[in-house]
Amino acid sequence: MTELDEQQLEELRRDLETLRSELGAQRQHGEASAGPVGVNLPIGRLARMDALQRQHMAKASQESRGLRLREVAVALAAIDSGDYGYCRQCGEPIGLQRLKARPETRYCICCHDNIESRGA
Ligand SMILES: [Zn+2]
Repeated sequence: MTELDEQQLEELRRDLETLRSELGAQRQHGEASAGPVGVNLPIGRLARMDALQRQHMAKASQESRGLRLREVAVALAAIDSGDYGYCRQCGEPIGLQRLKARPETRYCICCHDNIESRGA
């Protein structure tokens, strides 16, 4: 795999910045819908369970958004320090194709698969 040139880095930086503002906006929206389920609302038990379920899911996606936002911030910092685009595990270039698909990633596809299959 080849290393990234200036232009590709700039493109990925823009992708990351877009991602950061999108995630930030979604997070604000998510916080509103992850609020407590009103116990005084005249809704049935099933509807309440449904609402709790949605609240649980909203919270989970809220957490994964927060995690992803941190990864985006780390990636942006890595661009500034010149470490961006290299696998944190093996040090090889991650590759433009994978970075375009997921610009905040820190691992090449091989290491990612290894980490995933270890369940970490
Ligand atoms: Zn690797």
